[in-house]
Amino acid sequence: MSSPLELARPEIRALKAYDHAAWEPSLERLHANELPWAASDDGMCEGLNRYPEPQPRALIERLAGLYAVPPECILAGRGSDEAIDLLSRGFCRAGEDAVIVCPPTFGMYAIAARIQGADVLRVPLQVAQDFALDEDALLQRCTSNVKLVFLCSPNNPTGNLLSEPAVLRIAASLAGRALVVVDEAYVEFAGQPSLARHVARLSHLVVLRTLSKAHGLAGARCGTLIASAEIVSLLRKIIPPYALTQFTIETVLRQLEPVRLEPMRVRVAELGAERAWVAAHLRDCAGVVRVWPSQANFVLVEFHDATSALAKARAAGLLLRDVRSQPGLERALRITIGTPEQNRRLLRALQ
Ligand code: PMP
Repeated sequence: MSSPLELARPEIRALKAYDHAAWEPSLERLHANELPWAASDDGMCEGLNRYPEPQPRALIERLAGLYAVPPECILAGRGSDEAIDLLSRGFCRAGEDAVIVCPPTFGMYAIAARIQGADVLRVPLQVAQDFALDEDALLQRCTSNVKLVFLCSPNNPTGNLLSEPAVLRIAASLAGRALVVVDEAYVEFAGQPSLARHVARLSHLVVLRTLSKAHGLAGARCGTLIASAEIVSLLRKIIPPYALTQFTIETVLRQLEPVRLEPMRVRVAELGAERAWVAAHLRDCAGVVRVWPSQANFVLVEFHDATSALAKARAAGLLLRDVRSQPGLERALRITIGTPEQNRRLLRALQ
């Protein structure tokens, strides 16, 4: 089987990574030009006068346990946004390579590609098939300059899971040709197993997870790229050495203690019940044309008059996401499931 690194930019493959200050906690640090004293009100376990451990081992092991993959398959960064950016920079040659995205979908895949100077090829999801992937069109579009295929499951902003057999067929067909990146930012809300279990077998599969959604840690900025050890090692050369702050490291280690995982699952179940309530009541609203089924923490809603719905929500103090610029969603808004009080306030405003 060919190595996924053959798809990477040759100059990144050849790059020697920055030699950051050695991490040897048993010795005292006179090698990193830090101040020897912590600020008097520095409340961290490790003082903020010190640079944090790059890709901290305890954090990587905790994430590996959470996602049930080996630690060498984990790269932790500032949200999955950073992982998307690293993939574009590591695999796409500016002015030559391209990525495939399947709109309507999360906008950062195309933005990261554009920043890198890569072309963006669009293979729309099939609106009439509940936003299913168009497998044949995607495989046809995947010419030799396509290095990354971004799939989002559950998809933002439509809320549907992509068919796992379809994703696996695409991954199998594209082995040696392009990386298939499955963004599972919302998968906890779908109650479905992650595709990360296939990474050991499919060296061209990359899975993105985040603590920003179900774990309620969007402000901590911690996302995880799960891929073959070769891909992880390559991307470690590009990520800034101290990407994760000491605040993030300590917060995430505390929040991911095993005792905290059960309360997280309870919150996700509550959110699922609230999502069903919101969807059912939205369907009864006069101004609503349809509410698409969702496996995420939001619902996509088509309105007769989306401008008026946005204004009514705003008058009730609530912001909704206008997704009307996306293909096939000309009258749609994305509504995040809030607290029961917020959801009821929204429903009153829209009725
Ligand atoms: N992927 C998807 C599908 C998203 O919706 C988002 C955030 N809205 C992200 C990735 C980025 O999340 P983060 O950087 O917080 O991990």
